[in-house]
Amino acid sequence: MMRLLYFAAFAWAWGALAGQIPPSTEWTLAELIGLNEPSRDPAFAPIPPSHASREGLYLRTSARDAFLEMAAAAERDGIHLVAVSAARNFAYQNGIWNRKWARPQYAGWSDLEKARDILKYSAMPGSSRHHWGTEIDLNSLENDYFTSGEGRAVAAWLEAHAASFGFHLVYTADPQRPGYLPERWHWSYMPLSAPMLAAYNECVELSVLQDLEVAGMAWADSLRILTDFVNGIDAGH
Ligand SMILES: [Zn+2]
Repeated sequence: MMRLLYFAAFAWAWGALAGQIPPSTEWTLAELIGLNEPSRDPAFAPIPPSHASREGLYLRTSARDAFLEMAAAAERDGIHLVAVSAARNFAYQNGIWNRKWARPQYAGWSDLEKARDILKYSAMPGSSRHHWGTEIDLNSLENDYFTSGEGRAVAAWLEAHAASFGFHLVYTADPQRPGYLPERWHWSYMPLSAPMLAAYNECVELSVLQDLEVAGMAWADSLRILTDFVNGIDAGH
């Protein structure tokens, strides 16, 4: 029965993808919450140095291939796309989270206040879409970069063409959208991330996250991590 429900969830998500056919893959709970190692996982492939800010950036293979196709098309239009972050597993995300948690500026803050502030841009480990290997941060982690000059040209190119390669902005400026603040650099490979979100919603309960050792996770329920953050994406997706 669970298996049927699982596939029903996929079928629903796939149907929403207007004819794009994802591979017939199932994901383990561990993969959905980032308890994997992309560099040693045959389902992942590296982003070559020509389009990566550093070594060691991986995506799931179909997402990586789609990104390289998109990057080649952009190059022909004089736009250089560079991945600055891609798949991040639980351990990596936990490193980001803990570094921010220890910021001197948070001295005297409550755990809830700290978590809420970090969540403006960074996911609680176990709840990041970057765990899935479907998400890529492009060119800059500053929204301002995309408002003028080269960055503005990059943003305009992506807005015009990314969807035809399967990539969509999920953290848009729509004031109705809950969760993270707008991120003009974060692109999601929807042919995979839509069914992975459905799988995540099917498999991951709050208790699963609370079993992970994460600073502030006791507040995950109050912060609406699953409803507002994991699912707080652009309404069109
Ligand atoms: Zn991102």
